[in-house]
Amino acid sequence: MRKIDKIILHCSATKEGQHITVDDINEWHKARGFAKIGYHHVIYIDGTVHKGRDESLIGAHCLGHNSTSVGVCYIGGLDEKGNPKDTRNKGQKEALVSLVKDIKSRYPNATVHGHNEFAAKACPCFDVKKEFR
Ligand SMILES: [Zn+2]
Repeated sequence: MRKIDKIILHCSATKEGQHITVDDINEWHKARGFAKIGYHHVIYIDGTVHKGRDESLIGAHCLGHNSTSVGVCYIGGLDEKGNPKDTRNKGQKEALVSLVKDIKSRYPNATVHGHNEFAAKACPCFDVKKEFR
C-alpha cells in the first residue's frame, strides 16, 4: 500500500451548473496523455460521489505530490463567464465533508490541501485551510 499524507482538493474548472461526469474527465485526461482520469474521487453537481482512479494507484492531479496523495475533484469552479468561483452547492459541500472524513478514516495522518497551495492556480476556488483545518 502506498503512503498517503495529503488529501488534495480540486475543481473541474467547468462552468457553474454544467453536468460533467467521470467519463468526460477520463476523456480529457487521456487526451493529455494520462492513463485515465487523474483524480481518485469526483463530486457531481447533484452531490453524488463517483470513483475515478483507484486509490491504490498514484494519481495525476498535483505535480510533485501525486505519489503520496489522494485527489478529490468537485464539478464546477467557474462562473458563467469562465472566471474562478466557488460554485459548490449545499449537496456538494456536504458530500465533500463526508468524503474527506471517509478518506481520513483510512489515512489518519493525511492533511487536507487545495491544489492552489502547490501550484499558481485558483483551483479549487475556495479557501481549503478555512474549511478543513
Ligand atoms: Zn486542481
